[in-house]
Amino acid sequence: TDIRELLLSRIRDVPDYPEQGVMFKDITPLLADPGAFTALTDALAEIAANTGATKVVGLEARGFILGAPVAVRAGLGFVPVRKAGKLPGATLRQAYELEYGSAEIEVHAEDLDSGDRVLIVDDVLATGGTAEAAIHLIQRAGAEVSALAVLMELGFLDGRARLEPALGGAPLEALLQV
Ligand code: 5GP
Repeated sequence: TDIRELLLSRIRDVPDYPEQGVMFKDITPLLADPGAFTALTDALAEIAANTGATKVVGLEARGFILGAPVAVRAGLGFVPVRKAGKLPGATLRQAYELEYGSAEIEVHAEDLDSGDRVLIVDDVLATGGTAEAAIHLIQRAGAEVSALAVLMELGFLDGRARLEPALGGAPLEALLQV
């Protein structure tokens, strides 16, 4: 709970961003605090170790910032899942629904091997749409998900329930819940 208080104290609530009525959780104060950033990295790296992860996948863009140091700390490779059109090599692509319209994410197919156990890292779990698409990408690559780890879960959006079928028993670890 000590580390939770530290992390929570470094997240800034920004009202009406990116649109009216949304309370945006801004993690940049946490990133700017080396003690908090290190504590977060260590906590996520422990989840990687405890779940037997062999790779860390970070979701664009804040999942890159959090996931890369976790991979280094845990002694694992890092694999970016990017918005469609950004990766130069042969990719797998997954579409998912947004509130208005849809989006697509991609991963380099050769960066994941069948038999890999993947820790997915992102900053905030909201509706779960992004994470659900990432889980499907990883499974289509023949790998499995060791866990989904996020800094903060927005519980009122029910992302956890949405993700249950795709996770198939793999844990969803949220360091903070609001
Ligand atoms: P979801 O797909 O779960 O609805 O949205 C999660 C994605 O949107 C994550 O990649 C996350 O970075 C971003 N996101 C949604 N709401 C917030 C927020 O309040 N703060 C931050 N930092 N990211 C958010």
